Amino acid sequence: MSVNGKQVKEIINAIAVVIGENKDYLTKLDAAIGDGDHGLNLDRGFEAVRKKLKNEGESDIGNILKDVGMTLVSNVGGASGPLYGTAFMKAAVTVKGKNTVDINDFFKMLQEALAGIKMRGKAELGDKTMIDSIEPAVNSLKNSLDKRLNDVEVLKNVRDEALKGVNNTKNISARKGRASYLGERSIGHQDPGATSSYLILNVIYEEIKKLTAD
Ligand code: ADP
Ligand code: MG
Repeated sequence: MSVNGKQVKEIINAIAVVIGENKDYLTKLDAAIGDGDHGLNLDRGFEAVRKKLKNEGESDIGNILKDVGMTLVSNVGGASGPLYGTAFMKAAVTVKGKNTVDINDFFKMLQEALAGIKMRGKAELGDKTMIDSIEPAVNSLKNSLDKRLNDVEVLKNVRDEALKGVNNTKNISARKGRASYLGERSIGHQDPGATSSYLILNVIYEEIKKLTAD
């Protein structure tokens, strides 16, 4: 299936709602190993995104995603703002000028988003960051496309692998971000950024499942 700009905006608005619903949860996770602001940061950012998108056109998906990225960079305090902002801006470049996107486009978007986060934050898989949910998601997406699964199955696997990645962050110690100050003492705690990335990927799965059922 392909998704148009109006639907992309609806998915981003759905992400904003879920981030709002999980604001306290994300903030609690960050309070344990960071400074307790991850939920607040992202909620502020996605509320600004929601307002911004009201005035944004619905045709060019690249423009929509670029606006999301720039709005996150300028409204989210903390490390996660520039990282998520870069992710959306890098994803935007892959679909510049496109009015519709399909699952192959989404693979490129997610792959570039991951590359952008790694470039900006200099973290790798296993450092206990958002990369620990996004990188397994990208790998899963590639494998599912190779197996020619349908879009909903592909996105379900992506979501499931991201969740496994989130759970794995409990077993490892942080090497990047504020949580790295705790070193080994961060073991046993779930990474807030990996969790918010999983929540976003879960919304994408849920929304595409709904669109497919229509
Ligand atoms: P801050 O740590 O500045 O308070 P947030 O609380 O909003 O920012 O975000 C913390 C999350 O950001 C962490 O849980 C982690 O997933 C992610 N993060 C921090 N540093 C990096 C990095 N260098 N690369 C990737 N993700 C990072
Ligand atoms: Mg924080």
